[in-house]
Amino acid sequence: MNCSELPNAASLPIRFCSKFAAFSRWALAPVFKQVVSRSLRVGTILCLAFLSMSLAPAQEKSAPEKPSKEKPGKQQTDEDSGVPRVGSVLLAAFEEDKQLRTLTGELVAVDPAMGQLILDADGKLTVITPNSLKRLEEVSTPLVPTPAKEMASKALKLMPPGSRSLVTDHFVVCYNTSDVYAHWNADLYEKLYKGFYRFWKEKGVELKPPRFPLVALIFESDKDYIEYASKEFAGAQNTIGYYHQSTNRLASYDLTGIQGMMPAKAQYTRSDLINHMISRPGAERTIATIVHEACHQISFNSGLQVRLGDNPRWLSEGLAMFFESPDLTSQNGWGGIGKLNKFNFQKLVANSPSRTSDSLELLVLDDKHIAESMETGYPEAWGLTFYLLKNKPKDFVKYLDGIRARPPGKLSGPKERIELFRDCFGDDIAKIDKDYIRFMQRQKLP
Ligand SMILES: [Zn+2]
Repeated sequence: MNCSELPNAASLPIRFCSKFAAFSRWALAPVFKQVVSRSLRVGTILCLAFLSMSLAPAQEKSAPEKPSKEKPGKQQTDEDSGVPRVGSVLLAAFEEDKQLRTLTGELVAVDPAMGQLILDADGKLTVITPNSLKRLEEVSTPLVPTPAKEMASKALKLMPPGSRSLVTDHFVVCYNTSDVYAHWNADLYEKLYKGFYRFWKEKGVELKPPRFPLVALIFESDKDYIEYASKEFAGAQNTIGYYHQSTNRLASYDLTGIQGMMPAKAQYTRSDLINHMISRPGAERTIATIVHEACHQISFNSGLQVRLGDNPRWLSEGLAMFFESPDLTSQNGWGGIGKLNKFNFQKLVANSPSRTSDSLELLVLDDKHIAESMETGYPEAWGLTFYLLKNKPKDFVKYLDGIRARPPGKLSGPKERIELFRDCFGDDIAKIDKDYIRFMQRQKLP
């Protein structure tokens, strides 16, 4: 999916392709093998509508001096199965770009054909394919997450020279924008974080604190952003922000454009920033974009969703859109968890004459239906999520539990997807669709 297909891209003052919440599915076996065999970059961009695989670059270290007693490629951890145990900490030596590298991390999933999925101390997920693996050893020391300040130092190396960082309770923000813009973003992230946890607690879901500091890279210009993002996926020039499930990082740039409109080195306050932004026609989408991507990151780090798990696309995007609704009357421009999403509601209404009675079922059955038509798929994903969370919250939580129970590396087919949906929301999909449409018809824009 190319982000240029995003709705109203041409009509917005900024290119709207933000919600790149990349789903990296290491479980897409054929694609996985193809990508991995081509290069060792398996990805996981979970963004607004785009599924890509690119293997996150592995941690670069020199190979251990002490040679293994085992033959190359032989794993020496589990006597019964010949494969390491999920959860154990491993030291892996593998070949990348014709160089031997090592990586220490927890084993998240293993597949004889696809290899090992390993979580390192920075929170990065790396796939090591069977062909590239040279040695694998269990180590006895637990994985210690990289502290926020160290994470900031590492992330700054990904940014243009002169970039700065700020650390909040849960986020590490690296930026070369103005301090005002970066702090405004960070405050939005933290506000979303608190609201997100509160919302799910009220629904009976106890989320876990993020295990790793949540890193966000905010570039001053689209040029800097594209240069960085292009290393992670193709088509970055058509996007304005994304969350990457492999690296676990957010990336975007100054979406308000304020810096380009101010004299060089001019100082401005947050109030100037907000006023400038609100004066632009894309203000609502600018805030939605920032919140949407952060929502993906929080969702995948709080335990609500499993990174590289079997997450239906309509669900991931629907959740992000449910939380994104801007509120331009509030101090920061956002405060609207679960409010009617004006942008997507209007799309849903506009699409209704051509909507078919199997739209809901198709959305649930297979990700391709949302990927093939973002213009219709995203509004439907928001609408269905909005309807279910407002009317069937307990069933929705049960559904999330069912999705979460599926381990990374296992991708459900249409039959399993619809069965889980039926188990949670009812057998009669046609009735659910009718109820959903009736509910949406009763909604009114404020
Ligand atoms: Zn998204």
